[in-house]
Amino acid sequence: MLSADFSRVAEEVETVNSSGASWVHLDVMDGSFVPNISFGHKFIKDLRPCSPLVFDTHLMVINPEKHVEIFAQSGCDYITVHAEATVHLHRTLQLIRSCGCKAGVSIVPSTPVSMLEQVLDIVDLVLVMSVNPGYGGQQLIPSTMRKVSELEQIRSDEGYDYLISVDGGINLRTVRDVASCGADVVVCGNAFFTAEDRPQFVSDMIKAGTVGQTR
Ligand code: ZN
Repeated sequence: MLSADFSRVAEEVETVNSSGASWVHLDVMDGSFVPNISFGHKFIKDLRPCSPLVFDTHLMVINPEKHVEIFAQSGCDYITVHAEATVHLHRTLQLIRSCGCKAGVSIVPSTPVSMLEQVLDIVDLVLVMSVNPGYGGQQLIPSTMRKVSELEQIRSDEGYDYLISVDGGINLRTVRDVASCGADVVVCGNAFFTAEDRPQFVSDMIKAGTVGQTR
């Protein structure tokens, strides 16, 4: 939703509802962990009645454990926190689950997958940032795709069941390769909101991603 027009956000989310997409991704930025400030829990709470889709909240905030409860109460389905933003990552992930949400963990491009080794058994989602977080409309950093493959390999070796999501620079040119590395979910901001025909765009993305997965 970061790329949506916030002056008419209910209409914008309605176009997501009718586009064929199944999740709404909500980027919460605190101006400290990342340069920009986006929106907080009230935005999500007000938007919740406007969409039946899965609300996938990405907390780009320092000390996210302080905010987990209020975001859970706002109607989030997934709450994803950054491994770099909290000292007690394991406890924070458990807190998310105890609030009734699915727990996600994210890493920025400079953080290796090995940093997640001790928590991969308790997460529902791993979000690989394919750009440095903080702005919409950036280009995907190709080397981050190795981390998607690595997470796919670990999941298969260890029998884990987390979803792998990729966030940043996803569009019709990049989605096929991202899916072929093992991504289950792709986050799309700018490319979706600038598409002339959003349902057609989603349909094209799903087709391209499916080709990637079977490659
Ligand atoms: Zn995000």
